[in-house]
Amino acid sequence: MKKRGIVYKSTGSWYTVKGDDGKIYPSRIKGKFRIQGIKSTNPVAVGDVVILKVETKGDEEVGVIQEIEERKNYIIRKSVNLSKQTHILASNVDLACLLVTYNKPTTSTTFIDRFLVTAEAYHIPVILLFNKVDAYTIEEFAEMKYLAELYRNIGYTCVGISAETGKNIDEVKDLMKGKKVLLSGHSGVGKSTLANALQPGLNLKTSSISLQHQQGQHTTTFAEMYDLDFGAQLIDTPGIRGFGVVDIDENELGNYFPEFFERKQNCKFNNCKHIEEPKCAIKNALEQDEIAYSRYKSYLQIMNNEDEQYRTDVYGE
Ligand code: GDP
Ligand code: ZN
Repeated sequence: MKKRGIVYKSTGSWYTVKGDDGKIYPSRIKGKFRIQGIKSTNPVAVGDVVILKVETKGDEEVGVIQEIEERKNYIIRKSVNLSKQTHILASNVDLACLLVTYNKPTTSTTFIDRFLVTAEAYHIPVILLFNKVDAYTIEEFAEMKYLAELYRNIGYTCVGISAETGKNIDEVKDLMKGKKVLLSGHSGVGKSTLANALQPGLNLKTSSISLQHQQGQHTTTFAEMYDLDFGAQLIDTPGIRGFGVVDIDENELGNYFPEFFERKQNCKFNNCKHIEEPKCAIKNALEQDEIAYSRYKSYLQIMNNEDEQYRTDVYGE
């Protein structure tokens, strides 16, 4: 009997698959799997849509994964060791929510922009959740409003929330409904608190801060997906707070800044990198205050590969 389902959990050898019929099938893979030319340590990832052959073992139904439907996207973790193996953390992500806080911890615009660029490259929509609005001074609140406006003007949805008091959590639920969602952001921004506000009792492993250290660099991190009662799925990626770093070609980088993308056809040179070229529409827009200086600065930093800090931010602790 064949069944279609979605992978909710993977431990490396066993997978938890939820069938379209709502039943849970403990599943495994048979034989070698090589998908879409990706060399990875795990052929099947959380979020994958799979076709199972269901077998009855005693009074239990178990699945053998036979096919994986094409992924619309996936996020990876490149292992730090020499083998440079790629581990697919999750696939078919519909929405990444980046939690941002003004202080404790500070989220820099550089971090936000790198996250957004990577998400654009992975084709994952992002919304920005400015958390802890209950705790800001008037000045801090104004700063957050300025930032939200900046990103809203580029086209990103921004919501000021308080995971603690519940402010605007219903709006967040509306934005998440029907989607497979990833919560990202620095340690301490409130990911676990938000998860709990979305569904009381849900305990994320994402925030077990020292997990990665304890495991060492060679062990793999396995994601898990949870059904939320209001009709969304939350992907928990233990020890990971962002995406893996993708290698972006410098000629493509401008494509991942939406406000650059819409203007760059007006640059004099069609291979303009928007740095020193004359008659550059991006630099012109920068001078007119139509593009934020912080965004341009992030563009230059990513262009120059100054991503040491980012690696630490994403995998850090
Ligand atoms: P995580 O590391 O991203 O999972 O962050 P946590 O959810 O563990 O939150 C870190 C700290 O921030 C905890 O002490 C929370 O109580 C606090 N916190 C989270 N959300 C809010 C919020 O909306 N307002 C305030 N004032 N504190 C919050
Ligand atoms: Zn240009």
